[in-house]
Amino acid sequence: MAHKLDRYRGRRDAARTPEPVPAEGPLPKGDDDTFVIQEHHARSLHWDLRLERDGVLVSWAIPKGLPPDPAVNHLAVHTEDHPLEYAAFEGEIPQGEYGGGTMTIWDRGTYAAEKWTDREVKVVLDGSRTAGRYVLFRTRGKNWMIHRMDPPAASWHPPPGPLAPMRPVTRARLPRGRDDHRLEFAWGGLRALAHVVGGRLTLRSATSADITPEHGWLRPFACTLGSRAVVLDGEVVRLSGTEFYVCYDLLYDDGRPLLGEPYALRRARLEELGVNGPHWQTAPSWPGAEAGAVRRAARDQGLPGIVAKRLDAAYEPGEESAAWVFVPST
Ligand code: MN
Repeated sequence: MAHKLDRYRGRRDAARTPEPVPAEGPLPKGDDDTFVIQEHHARSLHWDLRLERDGVLVSWAIPKGLPPDPAVNHLAVHTEDHPLEYAAFEGEIPQGEYGGGTMTIWDRGTYAAEKWTDREVKVVLDGSRTAGRYVLFRTRGKNWMIHRMDPPAASWHPPPGPLAPMRPVTRARLPRGRDDHRLEFAWGGLRALAHVVGGRLTLRSATSADITPEHGWLRPFACTLGSRAVVLDGEVVRLSGTEFYVCYDLLYDDGRPLLGEPYALRRARLEELGVNGPHWQTAPSWPGAEAGAVRRAARDQGLPGIVAKRLDAAYEPGEESAAWVFVPST
């Protein structure tokens, strides 16, 4: 008789993968109440949802992760049953092996099944990051969808749609009240807002055109954010012949809209996000009192000038706002 884990074992060589590969034999008996979600940076980032059931972990690969919002269902691809030991697995599956890439536990906890058939599985998840009722339903072959049945978590808001960027006014001099401002370089690049959900990037120009295909080099940045959904404001700049995305504002952060928040708070959260990679960086910023040195540095680097941003100012999409003052290099 075929064993539930035959497909799992058939795809793995215990000598080559650190994953648990249990010997054949009777399946363990559990309480059918453990779930785990693993974040899997394989060829394509996805999250694996596994539910303990009759001695194995019944599994789905979810490319965008669990939907936080009942209005948006996510694809969930049914995959082979995994051994119960897999619920504790984190590690590096060697490249070239099945599922090669880094696997980490994104959440785990207990669940209760309200319904379980070949085409519909209704569960209540109770983890540290995940709580709520979800239904998985089969659409075609291995393809299922996952739908959140509960309303979104109380603190969660959906990400904004396309936004026009806020623009500075141009002045010959810096504004008064330097302590009320932070200073940034003006980059003179291509203004671009990065919308990231479930590790997927949509890069939009100042006119909201989708310019992601021309900037495929930025896609790996989205994967570094894992499941954190963000909207960033910044520019594509060319430095020494290489393209970079330099971000200087954070407009949405994982369920929290930030447009109405003061720049100081947005900037603090942006820094906490730690955008720092081979082609993506957080723009530096300086206290208003350092204006002289910052202007000299901008001029020395051939940059167009500096921008002073008021610490208490909200983000005004599409507006030319005096809360941001661009002072050209002279
Ligand atoms: Mn996987």
